[in-house]
Amino acid sequence: MAAGNEVYKALKDYFGFDSFRSHQEAIINSVLSGNDNLVIMPTGGGKSICYQLPAILLPGLTLVISPLIALMKDQVDGLHANGISAAFLNSTQSASEQDELFKKIRDKKIKLLYVAPESLGNIDPLLSMTELSLIAVDEAHCISSWGHDFRPSYTQLGYLKNRYPGTPVIGLTATADKATREDIVQQLNIPNAQRYISSFNRQNLSLEVRPANERFKQILTFIDDHPDECGIIYCLSRKSTENLAAKLNDAGLSAACYHAGLDPLQRAKVQDNFVNDKIKIICATIAFGMGIDKSNVRWVIHYNLPKNIESYYQEIGRAGRDGLPSDTLLFHSYGDVLQLRKFAENTGNSEVQLAKIDRVKQYTDALTCRRKILLGYFGEYMEENCGNCDICTNPPKFTDGTIIAQKALSCVARIAQKEPIGTIIDILRGSHNQAVMEGGYDNIKTYGVGKDISWSDWQHYLIELINIGYLEIAFHEKNHIKLTDRSNQVLFNGEKVALSLPQEKSKQSVPAKAAKSSVSKSGGLFEKLKALRLQISQEEDIPAYLVFSDATLREIEQVRPQTDEEFMQINGVGKRKLDAYGYAFIKEVISFQKEKKAGKPKKKDATYQKTFDLYKQGMTVEEIAKERQLNSTTIFSHLAKLYSDGKDVDLFRFVDKRDLDSVREARETLKEPDKLKPYYDHFNGSMDYWTIRLCLTLLETTATP
Ligand code: ADP
Ligand code: ZN
Repeated sequence: MAAGNEVYKALKDYFGFDSFRSHQEAIINSVLSGNDNLVIMPTGGGKSICYQLPAILLPGLTLVISPLIALMKDQVDGLHANGISAAFLNSTQSASEQDELFKKIRDKKIKLLYVAPESLGNIDPLLSMTELSLIAVDEAHCISSWGHDFRPSYTQLGYLKNRYPGTPVIGLTATADKATREDIVQQLNIPNAQRYISSFNRQNLSLEVRPANERFKQILTFIDDHPDECGIIYCLSRKSTENLAAKLNDAGLSAACYHAGLDPLQRAKVQDNFVNDKIKIICATIAFGMGIDKSNVRWVIHYNLPKNIESYYQEIGRAGRDGLPSDTLLFHSYGDVLQLRKFAENTGNSEVQLAKIDRVKQYTDALTCRRKILLGYFGEYMEENCGNCDICTNPPKFTDGTIIAQKALSCVARIAQKEPIGTIIDILRGSHNQAVMEGGYDNIKTYGVGKDISWSDWQHYLIELINIGYLEIAFHEKNHIKLTDRSNQVLFNGEKVALSLPQEKSKQSVPAKAAKSSVSKSGGLFEKLKALRLQISQEEDIPAYLVFSDATLREIEQVRPQTDEEFMQINGVGKRKLDAYGYAFIKEVISFQKEKKAGKPKKKDATYQKTFDLYKQGMTVEEIAKERQLNSTTIFSHLAKLYSDGKDVDLFRFVDKRDLDSVREARETLKEPDKLKPYYDHFNGSMDYWTIRLCLTLLETTATP
């Protein structure tokens, strides 16, 4: 087993990190001790290091089974960028390419080999000739038919343990549910596996839910708050991804759409451009994301309601893999709920699916910390509120809603519980639309009693009345709103009802944003570092985030390393990256520092100019000082500077010839003729500092022709 310091040395030398994230160290030690392991970590949790680091320290080859060819290439590129020898086997390689690869493996020149399960058969003879140190099964849930992403080709993987009983196996997945977990262990044939289950909390992701009113406008504002950052907008239909991308492009933003209906080449191109930061915004159906390892996705928006919490969590999980604050926003609409229910009803196991939609709805309607609800869904209990969701940062305020509830319930009773939510609002607000007039609802007693409350506020109150059980939706009766057992308590027994006040969601902001904008406004070094990263990634033909993550660039921006030693201290800088990129990044930092120094007078130029403008208007020094809220000495120094810069300033307006002669004489005798104080002392304080300064300015400029 490797000593602890060997593990830490490899962590810094190869990956550039100083410390492990939760469970990583224990997992690595367990692998190195020869155990089988099952690792459950959320997306972005840092699973890869759990087998990549042991692979470096173990003597033989580490075989990595991975379902996605696209991902394999990025993983291998990433390993190369860190100076680790790795390769992947793929059906597109020619026979001679494969021969060459096999030779390298036999010569022990490769530490990690990535293969898809379908290709395992091809390398059987090779494996029996090499020393196999570790078998890693990535996306291990694909082996389980319980999971949401079953792949038949994975089922054969169980034979590996039989065939290489002495080689430790590590299965890794982000799928949390218990049935799948145990199934993985069974199927992989590793009953004694050590189980490592990480928290699913991704505290760097802010969580926000807003009603889907004027979504496009809200999205533009949101993107405005995230200038130049990469993000994904998930939509329900292909058509809406196309429309939205077009509208965003019209608004001058860099967006593209992605869905299963595009031809594969087009899709690959869109995905590539996004990964390489050439396209900033992707409007996609859920087809997008699997196999994208981009670490600097800064935000995710759900344009439509997701159909279950699992997919929602996986989709928002694509933001902020680098651990930096990232924002997520979910639009919820009642229409989406109805639509999703309709889809679900047409499928085989509609009951389960409908229940899952209900859980999503409970999440969007929540009045308590959203992260608690999410983690609770995955069986994790959180003690404290998270402080990084819209409910935590802007807790709902309650009001006595008894009269509101009475009006609504009475309206529902008077129309014989035969209308959906929209018509009820129209009746309460005294609308003259078709549904109201045809129903003759303008004659009932509650018609127009809720004029003083806006349409969307009524919607909020009615949905809350449904959520707390005073009303219900009859999904099978055209979504009519019905009274419940509890309704009578309000209508006849004077029960009090507390309702949360509707909030202007678009105006609130979660703290992650505030924290982030304070970092991003540090004057453009981050942008310069990003541009350099892009340039390098293009030269090397690898995704930008593989050069350095956003987190690493942020640290460079803050620390401003100017030597190799300082640069090596940055998280994410290992030996290979120091050698390969250190020089260019240090150079960029140094030139930025210089520019900043040189840039300072620029700001001053503006201040001199203002003084000059006022001077030209004929103002006295005192008047200028007053106008500019500066003191007179400062204004004199401005004028002196303007004069020596050749501006048309008549300094003789402020000094007379005798002062000038005295200063000239003194200059010949004083020991330190460049400083002002010796003159001041020489004249025993009888001449102001500013007069001395102006005289010196005059003498200097007249002396040098
Ligand atoms: P997963 O496969 O679990 O989705 P990755 O292995 O791709 O996650 O890791 C996600 C990100 O976290 C990567 O950018 C990786 O470099 C970074 N990371 C992993 N471990 C550490 C660590 N100990 N310190 C800092 N960053 C880490
Ligand atoms: Zn919270």
